[in-house]
Amino acid sequence: ARPVKLSVHLHAYGNERRLLLSRDITALELAEAMRRDFVANVSHEIRTPLTVLSGFIETLQTLPLQEPERNRYLGLMAQQSQRMQTLVNDLLTLSRLEGSPLPDTAGWVGTGALLAQCEQEARALSALLAPSGHRLEFDAGQVCELAGVHNELLSAMSNLASNAVRYTPSGGLIRVSWMLLDDGRGRFEVQDSGPGIASEHIPRLTERFYRIDRSRSRETGGTGLGLAIVKHVTQRHGAELQIESQLGQGSRFSIVFPAARVRQLPA
Ligand code: ADP
Repeated sequence: ARPVKLSVHLHAYGNERRLLLSRDITALELAEAMRRDFVANVSHEIRTPLTVLSGFIETLQTLPLQEPERNRYLGLMAQQSQRMQTLVNDLLTLSRLEGSPLPDTAGWVGTGALLAQCEQEARALSALLAPSGHRLEFDAGQVCELAGVHNELLSAMSNLASNAVRYTPSGGLIRVSWMLLDDGRGRFEVQDSGPGIASEHIPRLTERFYRIDRSRSRETGGTGLGLAIVKHVTQRHGAELQIESQLGQGSRFSIVFPAARVRQLPA
């Protein structure tokens, strides 16, 4: 049996003194279990497309295929390698975000340009995924500037917008908006009429590789890392990620920026 370390803490609660016994190793054990899970997840995510790829390579090597059939296989292979590239890019992004403070390249970023880029990406993705499209509405509100890193802010916002597009069925409504709040804070918000999320999943959504609908995530090019990236970017910018959703009622993801990071532009 493994030794269990017990530590004793003396806590003061007002005039009262309480003795707390706790297992000190719990946090360490938890971190170690999370690391193991993460490595297992990454390996699994890489192994799946690799297995498919090597199967196709073997087929191409052994079967005398006609040109159209060959091209079909090559197309499927390109898809799998794209999937691995996206995964590796997301992993690198995450490790950069986790390992460093906000870089010196932070400056003032216009919310109008961020929203416009977000819109372009969301429309392109919607055209690709939804046969009869989505109703996509963008509201740039009172245009402001945000103190931060352009690429990071864009990646957080477009992750939220593209999730809405990816999980909302064809014909659904997606609203993306920026608003300056009365107290000087700023709110970037993505609302969708998609499937919604049961409350027990909500606190876990920003965990790496946590997915509710695994097949929908894969089919639409998801890595399971998007919301983990959003959470890190949000924290680095002193902002708060809020998730409101109910099963069958759609979802609303918002990033609320503190007033100190929001600057209103003259009209
Ligand atoms: P993924 O690449 O799987 O989309 P994310 O980290 O971006 O990974 O999201 C984690 C999970 O949260 C998704 O797999 C999905 O189950 C759920 N999710 C995210 N956004 C939405 C949304 N707008 N509507 C419903 N479910 C969502």
